[in-house]
Amino acid sequence: MAPVTRIDAIRYARHERPAAENFAAPVDDHDLPMPLDYFVWAIHREGEHPVIVDTGFGEQAAVARGRIITRPLIEGLRDAGIDHLSVEHVILTHLHYDHAGSLSTFPNATFHVQDAEMAFATGRQMCDHGVRGPFDGEPVAQLVRRLYADHVVFHDGDEDFAPGIRLALAQGHTAGLMVVVCDTARGPVVLASDAAHLYANITRAIPFPIFVDEADYAAAQDKVMTLAGGSLDHVIPGHDPLVLACFPCENDIARVDLAPHRPILEAL
Ligand SMILES: [Zn+2]
Ligand SMILES: [Zn+2]
Repeated sequence: MAPVTRIDAIRYARHERPAAENFAAPVDDHDLPMPLDYFVWAIHREGEHPVIVDTGFGEQAAVARGRIITRPLIEGLRDAGIDHLSVEHVILTHLHYDHAGSLSTFPNATFHVQDAEMAFATGRQMCDHGVRGPFDGEPVAQLVRRLYADHVVFHDGDEDFAPGIRLALAQGHTAGLMVVVCDTARGPVVLASDAAHLYANITRAIPFPIFVDEADYAAAQDKVMTLAGGSLDHVIPGHDPLVLACFPCENDIARVDLAPHRPILEAL
């Protein structure tokens, strides 16, 4: 049996926007709707508590940034059979508000972060208001407090996390973004987070317009595709509504350990 028995992509929020906002270069369909979905992921293994990837954000950030919470995360986790209070490990792919904005949802968890991401989010680059825009100070401060309470574990580059779960540094969107590679019955599944907001950021080879290093961003997507065995069906982007549309899905929870209904390339 494969080490990872189930992966839930739990959608909790949405943002309606035109395609132009999702690409750093002009696109033909610039004024057509291309909404973003917001997810937290849960990795299940036999006999283990699920490992959660990212925390999402709460109502305050949703109001401040004009995002719509489609279902509070605690309810989404409960609908996936997960008690947020029993979660022991949360992997933070990076520290943008929509990925690390709700640490308090997991009061008993240890948080896992890349060295480079913590240094980035607490260092001089946050003096640049453009770079700082997708970060919220309070959750980053909470993470520092969790560090002082012995509830943060640092990772440096590519590392084994647990049987069937590997971490891979894929910086470029931020200085220390990591993706999570899961060994499932259908092969590797790469939780790509914001290494690719949308499948189209990969297929069009145009970055989402938030990055600290464009060459690193492109290399990160190449690395994601390599880790996924060259197949988009094995890549789970951070914000693509196609995840709910293409994978077996119930109640806004997609089973991304299972194969999509049809190849992703056909759905694009
Ligand atoms: Zn991000
Ligand atoms: Zn994001």
